[in-house]
Amino acid sequence: MSNSVLKLSAITIEKMKEHYHSCLQPATPPGSIFVAKPPGCTITAYKSGKVLFQGKTALDEAYRWENVALPAEQKKAVIKTAHLFAPPENIEELSIIGSDEVGTGDYFGPITVVAAYVKKEQMELLRELGVKDSKHLTDKQIVSIAKDLLHTIPYSLLVLRNEKYNSLQEKGMSQGKMKAVLHNKALLNVMQKLEGKPLDGILVDQFCEPAIYFNHIAREKEQVKEKIYFATKAESLHLSVAAASILARYSFIKEMDKIGDSLGMTIPKGAGAQVDVKAAELIRKFGKEKLREIAKLHFANTKKAEALASGKRW
Ligand code: MG
Repeated sequence: MSNSVLKLSAITIEKMKEHYHSCLQPATPPGSIFVAKPPGCTITAYKSGKVLFQGKTALDEAYRWENVALPAEQKKAVIKTAHLFAPPENIEELSIIGSDEVGTGDYFGPITVVAAYVKKEQMELLRELGVKDSKHLTDKQIVSIAKDLLHTIPYSLLVLRNEKYNSLQEKGMSQGKMKAVLHNKALLNVMQKLEGKPLDGILVDQFCEPAIYFNHIAREKEQVKEKIYFATKAESLHLSVAAASILARYSFIKEMDKIGDSLGMTIPKGAGAQVDVKAAELIRKFGKEKLREIAKLHFANTKKAEALASGKRW
């Protein structure tokens, strides 16, 4: 049995009411807009905007609406989208280990995962160094800030290179599981480095529902489970996640440069059409096996590149 509370807009609540029209309950408690009972869950929406999910499937139901609500509602709403592992509202003031990853959507290059510890006394220094949401930073800024960060905070950087990634993937491991295992490892590594320094909690930049995350790491020898919080866009909630994100991107940039240098060309990021063209060029020059060393083979780009490469040969 689990519970989840979301703070949602009137528009989203209206949408929910329509969505659950076949399981609306006739009796509703004072202050509520509706009560619905889809399989395994009781949902109560209040006029205040609070929506309570209770029961076996509460997290699944809540997760669906949490994501619908995100684009329209504010940063504070992100904090309030409380599943069981939502960060406390004062998270900004706490000493936290944050974790984030880069490269999961890029065809070329590894996945890099970083956990980093930022105590509250260091936050001002980090802000002075320019640490903020890495989505607002250029690669050049990332490299320069990262070089300072490497000497400033305890962190753990894990790089899952392509050959290992491809072999795990071919054995049936999902990318989500790889990420969860790496986050857990990086968090454990940093916890070991802390040696009694204050730790108020752990914040993971959320890439899947917490229940699924814990399922992914269930067979790991050691699991970080105490005071662990999950939030999407967590780099805007705590500087530790922002710092982890910067270090992960720094490492990814360096890895991509290494791959580019070894091939004597620039390797594009992402998974778009220019990636297909580059991959086709590499197949023609070095053979398909080269991609195993530098790309995530199961992406659709591989098939497109093969088609392009063979097309040009005719
Ligand atoms: Mg992330």
